[in-house]
Amino acid sequence: MSKPSTTLIHHPYTPPAIFSAPQPGVFKASTVFFADVAAMRARDWKTKAGYTYGLHGTPTTFTLEERLATLEGGTECLLVPSGLAAISLVSFAFLKTGDEVLIPDNAYGPSKALATGELANFGITHRLYDAMNPADLEAKISHRTRLVWVEAAGSVTMEFPNLPALVDVCRARGVVTALDNTWGAGLAFAPFDFNGTGQGVDISVHALTKYPSGGGDVLMGSVVTNDERLHRALKLAHMRIGFGAGVGDVETLLRSLPSIGLRYAAHDRVARELAGWLNGCEEIAQVLHPALEDSPGHANWRALCGATDLAAGLFSVVFDERYSAEQVDRFCDSLRLFRLGYSWGGPISLVVPYDIGLMRDASVARWPYKGTLVRFSVGLEDVDDLRGDLQQALVQM
Ligand SMILES: *Cc1c(COP(=O)(O)O)cnc(C)c1O
Repeated sequence: MSKPSTTLIHHPYTPPAIFSAPQPGVFKASTVFFADVAAMRARDWKTKAGYTYGLHGTPTTFTLEERLATLEGGTECLLVPSGLAAISLVSFAFLKTGDEVLIPDNAYGPSKALATGELANFGITHRLYDAMNPADLEAKISHRTRLVWVEAAGSVTMEFPNLPALVDVCRARGVVTALDNTWGAGLAFAPFDFNGTGQGVDISVHALTKYPSGGGDVLMGSVVTNDERLHRALKLAHMRIGFGAGVGDVETLLRSLPSIGLRYAAHDRVARELAGWLNGCEEIAQVLHPALEDSPGHANWRALCGATDLAAGLFSVVFDERYSAEQVDRFCDSLRLFRLGYSWGGPISLVVPYDIGLMRDASVARWPYKGTLVRFSVGLEDVDDLRGDLQQALVQM
């Protein structure tokens, strides 16, 4: 008879197997047991046929992966600890010393920083291209180009590129395309099947931190593909780097994912109303929102997202150049409901002022505006209250 310290650990009771409830079970593990040595030796961590180690997947992480693959219209998904980790995973999987990666100049800033930092340290070069000019991308693809990033809409400046044209350029040259699909979220357009054409990107990365979480409280990322060969390369890199997602966070994502469609549409409706209202304010030189007719790339947005008529909850404004950067800072400081903070997709509206001149490479494309840019992320508050907040801050400015 074993002693209590042992029987408390090796206890014979197991609960009945079938427990059925709205939320899937939460399984936490680093160690996973094998029935015998033969099963241990036969282990294959590369598929979802079984379990080998917590880092390689649990019933809980597999469930979220499958649901995200479905959301984006892909077949395979990997979870990583943040959106930026998803971008890093793609880089690790497909780039080696001597290779080149092409990145749009209006890409998510930390993605460019990864290229100038770690990728450069590894002897991987990068070039920035003008996302609004497929010919510029075409001219910059070389025999060393292994990966092209695309993003729609552009980060902060919200230009909507001709995504199918950019992807066609890469496909003709046999270069892998990876989309940062955080804005579209698998809802505004189908990343692997643009408008039902069967054409799309090779890889879609998604900062689950934003709309899938919806709470402003969880960091996570995903990498979805519909190509088994690309998935294998990603899975190998994922396993060797050790990019696991915490099961507690996965549980939170499984809770919030079912409401993403309702939340996304609600953020979109209010953002569009506020963007339209600001468009009529004399303090504003330009509103940057792809669903607004005079916004850069509007026709591209209409062509790709017209069927869903969805456009997320983000937009930016360029203030008239008669307002100094200090006055625009005062506008931001005067807001009460819009809080100062990075990220987006949560219930609380956020605002960030940016100096686009410092973020862009003038040799790629000239940024045409002189005034200060402010990016808004619209939360789930009432539209009249948010408009009132903007109005009083414009007066304070
Ligand atoms: C936020 C964001 C990321 C990074 O996500 P984190 O989880 O914050 O690392 C990547 N791409 C875009 C477009 C984002 O908005």
